[in-house]
Amino acid sequence: MSHCNLVDIVDYLDGELPPNKEKAVRTHLEECEECDFVMSDIKALRAFAALIGLSFEGPINST
Ligand SMILES: [Zn+2]
Repeated sequence: MSHCNLVDIVDYLDGELPPNKEKAVRTHLEECEECDFVMSDIKALRAFAALIGLSFEGPINST
């Protein structure tokens, strides 16, 4: 199996993958240190973005 792409990992974290694909990504992440590392990076990046008030979800409110 090839490595997960970034979009799939992001969608996986958001729970937005269809069940069959989610299972494939989860299985791969359990077996692949490289992709697990990428996922950790995304999580860390998001935690940091949340900390400074950025959002990856949709347009930023202008209020
Ligand atoms: Zn991989």
